[in-house]
Amino acid sequence: MQQSTIAEVNSSPEITAYGERRERLIHELAVARANGASVGLAKTTSNLFRHRQQAGTKRIDVRRFHHVLHVDTANRIADVEGMTTYEELADETLKLGLLPTVVPQLKTITIGGAISGLGIESSSFKYGLVHETVEEMEILLGDGSTIVCSATQNPDLFYGFPNSYGSLGYVLRLKVKLIPAKRFVRLTHARFTDAAKFFAQVETLCSSLKFDYIDGVVFHGGEMYTTTGEFTDDAPFASDYTYMNVFYQSIRRRDVDYLTAHDYIWRWDTDWFWCSKHFYVQHAPVRLLATKWLLNSKTYQRIMRLSHKVMPDANTESVIQDVDIPIQHAVEFLEFLLREIKVLPIWICPFRTYDPSVRFDLCGLDPHTLYMNFGFWDTVASTMPDGHYNKLIEAKAMALDGKKGLYSSAYYDEETFWRIYDRRAYQALKRKYDPGGCFKDLYEKTVKQM
Ligand SMILES: Cc1cc2nc3c(=O)[nH]c(=O)nc-3n(C[C@H](O)[C@H](O)[C@H](O)COP(=O)(O)OP(=O)(O)OC[C@H]3O[C@@H](n4cnc5c(N)ncnc54)[C@H](O)[C@@H]3O)c2cc1C
Repeated sequence: MQQSTIAEVNSSPEITAYGERRERLIHELAVARANGASVGLAKTTSNLFRHRQQAGTKRIDVRRFHHVLHVDTANRIADVEGMTTYEELADETLKLGLLPTVVPQLKTITIGGAISGLGIESSSFKYGLVHETVEEMEILLGDGSTIVCSATQNPDLFYGFPNSYGSLGYVLRLKVKLIPAKRFVRLTHARFTDAAKFFAQVETLCSSLKFDYIDGVVFHGGEMYTTTGEFTDDAPFASDYTYMNVFYQSIRRRDVDYLTAHDYIWRWDTDWFWCSKHFYVQHAPVRLLATKWLLNSKTYQRIMRLSHKVMPDANTESVIQDVDIPIQHAVEFLEFLLREIKVLPIWICPFRTYDPSVRFDLCGLDPHTLYMNFGFWDTVASTMPDGHYNKLIEAKAMALDGKKGLYSSAYYDEETFWRIYDRRAYQALKRKYDPGGCFKDLYEKTVKQM
């Protein structure tokens, strides 16, 4: 069935309301820019883990841009506003038996944020990164105009936008692909005691294309698990990890498990993977008192931001990173993490580029390689100068042809950074789409934390 483009669909009440919101935002941007200040986003939630300097930046309020405008069930496409959270989007699509092709696992991650970073999850071994599931975007530029881009319309912006972290403009509306979902997901957890066998098995599972979802967890050097997920209409039972039971602990106890599709996509949110341990909510009495409504990543983010403001800790280094390593170097990177960084557990998520013939300028991933995403999020006791452990990670990732997510702290010098991220392509995009410097440059934003 023929599907309409963003430019063609402009007549429904939802689209009219979107147009009004867009006009108000454009006005707000003009006011913010009147004194030449650079512009940033004002949002209720954020999954950034680096401090943002507030001085000199005017924030525009994009909180209204969180609507699912239309779901085209025949073509399996959602027309959605850029600051819609994946929780809001999945709630709408699940009513129709559909899910976003890739659902990053924290409920407050927005679709625009996942494109601007490099969003992945356990379906990414099959469908690639979040931005590869996007067909078309409408982007607000710094001069107050909006522009539609796709593979055929303004393709330089379409292919240059992913991983630009809001430094070229903001996605206000986009079309994203969906997949059919079933009621339940059947999980199979398999234990490994040897890293080489573990990663070899992850590679084999990814090649088989038999599964809907694949990820893994390393608990320590001698205990790691692959988890495969398959959609199913029927289940003998459905486990509940939204209150008294903790999902990551179940991986060690069960070989097979069943979750509703809804609970599967949010399996990591309730305990922020395992990071909820810092708030003591993995102890049954505290969990009971917390109530299930408070057990989610949004609560933990709020507490964490508050506690950092109140009592920054001088004797620890925050090591919160997602690093993508080619499969052939995965064992070496794991050995390095276990030896030098010692943050456990570690989340492993395999992914590959969906269409190897397509190049996204700022991603820098080899389109023919299967990558392992290593997610590790904790603090390390440290008497070393600031950034010591994060710098070790950056150097090791570079040595192994890996890439590091930019949502957290980064320490690259400018020359190294632009060796990793195509400076020439970025400068051409910046000159064309943000000549007035409304948004901070990518290096300033992600490394200098301006
Ligand atoms: C513990 C932890 C684990 C994580 N694990 C994963 C993971 O497994 N998979 C995964 O995919 N991601 C993961 N992330 C990263 C997360 O997806 C990125 O940080 C993402 O950019 C957050 O999106 P957000 O909507 O919260 O945006 P924000 O945090 O609000 O913003 C992030 C950046 O994107 C820009 N931005 C936000 N919205 C837009 C928009 N509409 N248009 C243009 N630019 C925009 C902002 O300017 C900012 O620079 C993890 C993060 C944390 C903290």
